Amino acid sequence: MQGPIVDLVLLLLLILFFGLQQRRRPQVYFRFWFVGWIFVFLSYVAWFIQARETNFQPLQNAECFDFLLLGVLTFLMSLLAKEHGTRKIILCGLALAAASMVIVDTREFMAIPPLVLASGVLLAEVIGFSIAFMLIPKRWPRRRYGVLAICVVYGSALTAYAWLTPATNLDQCVVVEVLLCAAVMYAGSAGRRGVSGWAGTVGFAAWAGFYLLKMHPGNPAWLKIGLAEFWNFPKYFVGFSMILKVFEETADDKARMAETFRDLYEDFRLLYDTHPHPMWICNESRGRFLTANEAATKEYGYSIAEFQGMTMSELELPHDPEAEEVDSVLGEPAEGVRVRHQHKDGRVVWVNMVEREIVYLGQEARLVIARNITERLKLDRELSFRAQHDVLTGLPNRQLLEERLEQCLQSCRVEERRAAVLTIDVDHFKLINDTYGHLVGDECLKEVAARLKSKIRKVDTIARTGGEEFTAVVSGLNKASDAEKVAASLMRVFEAPVELPFGALGVTVSVGVAVYPDDAVDSTTLRRLSDEAMYRAKRAGRNRAAYSGEKTTVLDFKKPEAS
Ligand code: GH3
Ligand code: MG
Ligand code: MG
Repeated sequence: MQGPIVDLVLLLLLILFFGLQQRRRPQVYFRFWFVGWIFVFLSYVAWFIQARETNFQPLQNAECFDFLLLGVLTFLMSLLAKEHGTRKIILCGLALAAASMVIVDTREFMAIPPLVLASGVLLAEVIGFSIAFMLIPKRWPRRRYGVLAICVVYGSALTAYAWLTPATNLDQCVVVEVLLCAAVMYAGSAGRRGVSGWAGTVGFAAWAGFYLLKMHPGNPAWLKIGLAEFWNFPKYFVGFSMILKVFEETADDKARMAETFRDLYEDFRLLYDTHPHPMWICNESRGRFLTANEAATKEYGYSIAEFQGMTMSELELPHDPEAEEVDSVLGEPAEGVRVRHQHKDGRVVWVNMVEREIVYLGQEARLVIARNITERLKLDRELSFRAQHDVLTGLPNRQLLEERLEQCLQSCRVEERRAAVLTIDVDHFKLINDTYGHLVGDECLKEVAARLKSKIRKVDTIARTGGEEFTAVVSGLNKASDAEKVAASLMRVFEAPVELPFGALGVTVSVGVAVYPDDAVDSTTLRRLSDEAMYRAKRAGRNRAAYSGEKTTVLDFKKPEAS
């Protein structure tokens, strides 16, 4: 590996390498190394030109020294950038560079008296000492005192050298001092696991050593040849140590990442396993269980191994009228879907299921969270039933009747069929209360409700709409007179006396009937007309049915005998 062109190419490759590294990495020293190698490259370019172009030698000498000094200083300062911030380090580096350059470069152009030169060197050493004192933290004692010692010992020697001798190679002496400081700094930064710090130390020390040997006037011929032959080795050793550092950092990054992932995985596993609601992950295509948490095993009675041999469809129960009723009563849940699952022992488990598509161990999968809502559903259904039904008789209340009447009229309108609204009021109920008391009255009302209900089809409605008043909505009538048959069948259920704890009691009812669409087409008018008809039946002597639209078509029933 000889020849200046090869050197320049190698330096360019180093620049390219660190240029790419510094873009992808957070470590600021990669940026410094990138810039440092650019300076070293420029110093080589200057040296390359100087060897071929003999004009402007002082300027070219100054350039060679300046760029090399800047490069080595950048390497030196790179290790402090993390501690103090890039801006401060750059400023200090520039101050150091300026102090050295002014003295050395000026000397290229004019003769400087030894005392002035020595004073300049001393001043630069004081600046170097102060910056090292300020920047190198106390918790790095070896680096701190190593660099400070170099400033004092080497600095004093250099000052004396500048004063007492012509000091023709002052530029090289300055570079050697910076290289020695860099060697100390890299030795301090060398970790136990990595060898890059030590390689860097050896590289910088050798770099300084080569300069020192070269400066020695009486070198034997073999040493001169050796130095010329291996002149660039220390520099590439430094480059090699820096590349090594990149690989060490990559390995460290990977180890750190693996550790973070392991921690994260453990956190999520804990969250998954201790989650109070059943959770599982199943295969996207066939719904086969891949894993399930502890709550799932408790809620469904299957072990994880059993789950892994099942598919989700094996948990599901077919949609049945109960499910439809639940949907109609409670509506759609705000999130997810409400499904009926089966416990291993056959019990129905209502769950609210939320699903998310995920990638699990490299395959498309679904994460399912199933919240058991069986108890909640029972309570909701009970509350909903209570809100729409009468507590005493269990019949629908006025509100539910209104809804059902509207639905009924709507379907009658579509199907062009008739419907009847029947208002049924117990005759002289107050008398029953007054005679036998309210409790007996309640029992009587329950029996009245049960008898009326027995005559009403499931698709029709019988509701308790007042104290002792009931309303029936009967649909699917072909002709208006069909309503009479319904009224007659309702009244007929009271032919037999009502059996109460104290004995049998004769009960009669008065019925008012209004027919859709013959008497009215809207629910309010139909209710009103049927009510008015009921009062007409009362006025006509009770225990009979009266029809809206007709004046006095009254069905009279025999009052049952009380025992
Ligand atoms: P009419 O034949 O004119 O309908 O006479 P009535 O006595 O049946 O009618 P009225 O409206 O005068 O009285 C209704 C009675 O029903 C009055 C009230 O105390 C009684 N009642 C209403 N709700 C209940 C209940 O839940 N339980 C009992 N035991 N009685 C009730
Ligand atoms: Mg009454
Ligand atoms: Mg009444």
